[in-house]
Amino acid sequence: MRHWRRTLFLAVAGLASSLGLGASARASAILFLEQTNLSRPAYVAYMQAFSPRVRAVLAQRPEIYTENLDLGRFDGAEYRRNLDRWLREKYAATKIDVVVVSGRVATHFARELRDTLWPDATLVFGALTLADAATFSAWPNATGILIEFDAGRTMEAALLVVPDALHVVYVDGARHTFPENAARSRRAVSAFAARRGLELIEFVGLTLAETKRGLAELPPRSIVYYGAVSVDGAGRAYVPQEVLAELAAVSAAPIFGDTDTFIGHGMTGGACLGMEALGVEMADIVGGVLRSGPATTGPSPVRRTEAFHVVFDARELQRFGLDARSIPGVEVRFNKPTLLETNLTAVIWGSGALVLQTGLIVALFLQRRRRQRAEHEVLDQRDQIAHAGRVSVLGQLASSLAHELNQPLAAILRNAEAAEIFLCASPPDLEELRAILADIRSDDQRASAVIDRMRALLQRRDLDSRPLELGALVDEVISLARSDAMAKKVTVEVDIPFGFPRIRGDRVHLQQVLLNLLVNAFQALEGSAERRVVVQGRVVGGTMAEISVSDTGGGIPRADQPRLFEPFFTTKVKGLGMGLPICRTIIEAHGGVLWAGDSGNAPGASFYFTLLLAGDPAPTRAPRVPSPARAPAAAR
Ligand code: ADP
Repeated sequence: MRHWRRTLFLAVAGLASSLGLGASARASAILFLEQTNLSRPAYVAYMQAFSPRVRAVLAQRPEIYTENLDLGRFDGAEYRRNLDRWLREKYAATKIDVVVVSGRVATHFARELRDTLWPDATLVFGALTLADAATFSAWPNATGILIEFDAGRTMEAALLVVPDALHVVYVDGARHTFPENAARSRRAVSAFAARRGLELIEFVGLTLAETKRGLAELPPRSIVYYGAVSVDGAGRAYVPQEVLAELAAVSAAPIFGDTDTFIGHGMTGGACLGMEALGVEMADIVGGVLRSGPATTGPSPVRRTEAFHVVFDARELQRFGLDARSIPGVEVRFNKPTLLETNLTAVIWGSGALVLQTGLIVALFLQRRRRQRAEHEVLDQRDQIAHAGRVSVLGQLASSLAHELNQPLAAILRNAEAAEIFLCASPPDLEELRAILADIRSDDQRASAVIDRMRALLQRRDLDSRPLELGALVDEVISLARSDAMAKKVTVEVDIPFGFPRIRGDRVHLQQVLLNLLVNAFQALEGSAERRVVVQGRVVGGTMAEISVSDTGGGIPRADQPRLFEPFFTTKVKGLGMGLPICRTIIEAHGGVLWAGDSGNAPGASFYFTLLLAGDPAPTRAPRVPSPARAPAAAR
C-alpha cells in the first residue's frame, strides 16, 4: 500500500515538473558577460530593448545578472585570473541558464567559466567576424548571432549624401576594446577608398588635440569614418561618444560611423548597428534557448544580425548643406518638425480663414465689378434716354426753332435788298452800307447761335460738370423757347437775384431740364386766361440752389401726382411721358432732387429742382435788364 502511494506521488510530481509547475518553475537566470562596459549608452539602449522582449518571449521575468569585464581598460593574465576567481566565488551558489557574451576575448573567457561553473548553461554570443562565429558555434551548447560591422557599407552610405567626395578620412584611437573589429574597419575603409578611387587620409593613434586639428583642416569634399576612440595616442581613456562630439564640433567634413547611438552626438550618419534592434534579436535567441531547453551539442546555425540600417542626422546634414530626403529607405532623425506638424490645428484654422477671406475678397471684387458694369449700363441708358428725350423735345420745338431762324434770315434778306438800293445811289452812301453789313453780320451770328444750340442739344454726351452761371443758363433756354412762348402768348419772368452764386453742372443737360419744364408749362397754359411762367432761383442751406419753374395753368390733378415721374406717363394726346423722368434722372445725376408742387395759393403747377453750388466766388455780372430789342414783350 505504502509502495503504491509513493508511486502515485512520484507520478504527480513528475507530471507537475514536466508542466513547469511546483518548485522547478524557478525564474530563468541570464548572465551578461560584457567585454567592455554595459553602462555605455549603446548598451543602455540594447538592454532597454532586451529586458521587456525576453520577458514577453518567456512569459516570465528572468533573473538578469550583468558583469562588465572591462577588458579594454584592464587587461593582462593577472587581471583575468583575479576576475575569474572573483566571478567563481560570486556565482558559486547561483545557477545560470544562459550566458550572453560579446567580444572574442570575453567569449573565450566566458566559455571556461561556463564549462566549469554551469555546464548546462547555453552560451549565447555576439560574434563580430565570420571566423569567430564558426568557432563559437562549434562549441557544445553554444549559439549566437553574427554582428559583422562593415565600415565599407557605412562609407557607401556617406556617398549617398556626398556623391562628389574626393577624400576619405579614417579616424581611430590608439587602443581598442575590440581590436579585431577596429582592424577590420580600417581595412574596409582603405578598400573602399581604393575601390572608389578616393584619397585615403588616416588619423590613427593621435592625441585628441592632434585629431581635432587634422579634422578642422580637412580639404573640401572629404568624408570621415569615425572608429570609436576610447584611448587616444597619449594613452588617455575617453568615452567614444564624447570624443565624437568634440571632433564633430571642429570637423570641416561630415563624420560617419556604424554605431547607432552616435547619431545625435555629432555623427552625420552611416550604416549603423541599431542597438535596440540588436537587443530584440538577442532576446529572441535567449528566449528561444530558455523555452526549448539547452542547445544540442555540435555547431548551431548562426544568423547575421538584421539590426544594421542607414541612418542620418538631419541637423548635421543641414550643417554641411547635404540632403537625404530623396534617398529611399533611409532613416533621417532630428528632422525639424514643419509648421504643419507642430501647429496642425492652428494651420488648419489659419488656412481655412485665409481661404474664406480670399473667397470673400474675390466675391466682393466680382460683386464690385458687376455693380460697376451695371452702373455703367445705367449711365449709358440714361444718356441714351436723355438723348431720345432731347430729340423728342426738339421735335416739339422744331416749328418755333424754324420761326426763330426765320427772323434773322428775313432780316438778312431785307438788309441785302436795302444794300442793293443804296449801291444804286450816286454816290453810294457808304456809311449806310457799312451799317447794313454790320446788321447782316449780327443777324447771321444770331442764326448760327440758334443752330449751335440745337446741335448741342441733339448731340449725345456724357456729364461734363463745371461751374455755371444760373442766369445765363436760364437766358439760353428762354432764347430757345422764345418763339414757342410767343406763339402761345406766354410771358416768361425770370427771378434770379443779382450776384447769385454759380452752380455746378453740365450746361447742355441742365438746358434740357429747363427746356422740358418750360415746354410743359407752356402746354399747361393753353386755354388759360393768364399765361405766365416764372423761373426763380434761391440759395438753400448755403450749399444748394433751388430753381423753380411755375406756371399759372390748370395745375396737376391730385390723382396724377404720384405717377408724374413714371416713364411714359402722359396726359397729352401726342405726349411721350419721358420728359419728367429724364429731367429727374439728370438732376439726380447732378446730386440734386426734382419734385412737383403747387404754386402756393396761386393756380397752376410748380416744378422745383436743386443743384449744388460751385462754391467759388459769385460772378461779377451786370444785372440782366431785359432788352426790348432782343426780348419781345411776349417773352419777357
Ligand atoms: P409729356 O409732356 O410727354 O406728357 P412729361 O413727362 O414731360 O411728358 O409730363 C408728364 C405729364 O405730367 C404730362 O402729360 C402732364 O400730365 C403732367 N405735367 C407736366 N408738366 C405739367 C405742368 N406744368 N402742369 C400740369 N401738368 C403737367
